[in-house]
Formats: sequence, C-alpha cells, structure tokens
Amino acid sequence: MDRIAVFPGSFDPFTIGHKVIVDSAMGLFDKIYIAIGQNTTKNSFISLENKVKHIKSVFENIPNIEIITYDGLTADLCKRLQAKFIIRGLRNTSDFQYEKSIAQVNKELYPELETIFIVPQPQYGHISSTIVRDLIKHKGDVSNFVPGKLIID
Ligand code: ADP
Repeated sequence: MDRIAVFPGSFDPFTIGHKVIVDSAMGLFDKIYIAIGQNTTKNSFISLENKVKHIKSVFENIPNIEIITYDGLTADLCKRLQAKFIIRGLRNTSDFQYEKSIAQVNKELYPELETIFIVPQPQYGHISSTIVRDLIKHKGDVSNFVPGKLIID
C-alpha cells in the first residue's frame, strides 16, 4: 500500500525551512500532499492563491508532491485522502510542546494516523514565516529564506 503523507501548515509564506522538511520527507513517502490550511483565526499575509502558485513553482517537476488547500480538521483531511501520516517540523522545545498536543488530539480523532516529526539541520532552525513577513514589511531581502519566487500582491 502507498505511504501517503500530509504536510499541513499555514505557509504564510512557504520558507526554506518548510522546503527542507519536504525534501527530507520525500524519501520516506510515496506521495506527499502539502496542504495549505485556511486557518480562520490567522489573517493571512499572502493570499491563498499566491501561496498555491508559489509552492507549486517550487515543486514543479516532482510528480509525487501535490499542493492542496483545505479548511476544517487536518485529521478529517487525512481520512479523505487516505493518508496515514502527518509530517511536521520541529525547530525547538516550544514547537515540541505545541506539536505534541496536536499529534495526540489527531491520534484520538483518527487512531491510525501517525505524526512524523522531522528536525531540520541547525542552519534552518531559525527560519520562520513570521521573520520572513517582518523582512518583507520592512523591505528586506528574503531570498536566503524563501525558495523560488514569492508572489506578493
Ligand atoms: P502552522 O500554522 O500549522 O504551524 P507553519 O506554516 O507555521 O504552520 O508551519 C508548518 C510546519 O513547518 C510546522 O510543523 C512548523 O514547525 C514547521 N516549520 C516551520 N519552519 C520550520 C523550520 N525552519 N524548520 C523546520 N520546521 C519548520
């Protein structure tokens, strides 16, 4: 049976940190859905349409990676896609505290679902969408933090 995984996130925007997680996961799964959540509590900096365009351009020639959008529960999305794995990145202990609770809730909702945590190499551990957004707001250069060409309205 195919190993199908979902990498869910806000990706506001998608950074090099996110990309290294996908690159590492590629060898582990037959199919990866990068699932952009339409989180109602967060006001998105990058539009959903531009997030899709940007992430698609980064993984253009890779057939087993698909970019999708979703709202609702990640566990329900995984059920619909018949995905048994969620991929998440762990940068530090605060990521761990937060991610552990989510993984436990997801397992309660969908017991076959495993959350697989990937730790980036240290040079990527400081990269976050928040920092990239701040750089953009202050006209800083984000080319070292964002893969490909980011589209901003
Ligand atoms: P969310 O709002 O769901 O946390 P994010 O887009 O902020 O979405 O992050 C998606 C996932 O990517 C999370 O698991 C986060 O910990 C991980 N991540 C973000 N930046 C990095 C990075 N630099 N290195 C490793 N993992 C990262």
